[in-house]
Amino acid sequence: MENTQTAAPFRSLATEAVHAGREDLAALGLHAAPLDLSTTYPAHDTRAEAARIDEFAATGARVDGPPVYGRLDNPTVARFEDALARLEGTEAAVAFASGMAALTATVLVRVAAGLRHVVAVRPLYGCSDHLLQGGLLGTEVTWTDPAGITDAIRPDTGLVMVETPANPTLAEVDLAALAHSCGSVPLLVDNTFATPVLQRPHEHGARLVLHSATKFLGGHGDVLGGIVACDEEFARRLRQVRFATGGVLHPLAGYLLLRGLATLPVRVRAQSQTAAELARRLADDPRVSRVHYPRLGGAMVAFEVEGDPHAVTAGVRLITPAVSLGSVDTLIQHPASISHRIVPEEDRRSGGIGEKLLRMSVGLEDVEDLWHDLDRALAFSPAGPPVRTQRPEWERKHQPAAR
Ligand SMILES: *Cc1c(COP(=O)(O)O)cnc(C)c1O
Repeated sequence: MENTQTAAPFRSLATEAVHAGREDLAALGLHAAPLDLSTTYPAHDTRAEAARIDEFAATGARVDGPPVYGRLDNPTVARFEDALARLEGTEAAVAFASGMAALTATVLVRVAAGLRHVVAVRPLYGCSDHLLQGGLLGTEVTWTDPAGITDAIRPDTGLVMVETPANPTLAEVDLAALAHSCGSVPLLVDNTFATPVLQRPHEHGARLVLHSATKFLGGHGDVLGGIVACDEEFARRLRQVRFATGGVLHPLAGYLLLRGLATLPVRVRAQSQTAAELARRLADDPRVSRVHYPRLGGAMVAFEVEGDPHAVTAGVRLITPAVSLGSVDTLIQHPASISHRIVPEEDRRSGGIGEKLLRMSVGLEDVEDLWHDLDRALAFSPAGPPVRTQRPEWERKHQPAAR
């Protein structure tokens, strides 16, 4: 029964981002969230501790009181979990050491239940593709387009997995229609690119929402983490797998991720605005053959160049040529060489990841400074065969004033 006295009032995402997971701080006489680095917790009452361990083993519910041991639970990490669950609109969330640890635990929950078949839509992040395809966790995967999901589902299908916008092509799917095609099979949506600021997959019927927290949630390129937002029933299985397999998020990472959430809406909106403008300029540029920018918006832009994509990553100076994304600074990388290198070439091609594709994560720099750098780097990659030794068009057009 809903208790209207204690039900949390609806608050906007911007407010939740700053306050969720911190509601008790004022009563504790604190302003910043406390960072608890304990690996173990003292307990003189061993019988009570035994009962708490039994309770966790039987149910997977969060333990009441002190966490017993750091691999079972941590109060700082729990704050980050509570906050992300609020932002995604789910009952619970369970945090892990990385996005891949979060995906591994999710797959193991289903494989342990005898449901080893996964239906998935390409492209996925390269290592997610590799984890499913390689069968390391005992999975068998059927790749399909969204229209083929219903037909691909078998009695032993444990999971349907999709990314939207997808890494790295930014391909989008209609989540509500896709969730409908899944029937009773849990739909796992990797929401890393959109973040809850732009899209809340649970509202469209996704049972599981996964993040590489390393990206936008952290937002500063200095913390690895992963998290699954879901109902409490699935969260209990995830906590049991996390306890048994040990892929826990470090408390300092939990602290940094909670802090990252506070500025998530502001960062994503500002970065998206700049990204949309860069996508417009790239679309008008003759050195660029195709631009991929989601209808949903967002801070990611993918584009295909006429010339040599390696010359662009070699030519940037303000923009960092590096894998990963979601940071306050702009990063660019060549998916066929880096983020999706582990996916065999043929599978890359079927997922739309061509040799000319570049993926850019737009940060908080000024749009004109970013365009200046991109324009300069693109000059190293003119249409036709690459001519790396030639002085770039930009430098010829913009001779610096005499010094
Ligand atoms: C980076 C990434 C992952 C993997 O996350 P890690 O934190 O690097 O383990 C999963 N999904 C997407 C979409 C990603 O971009």
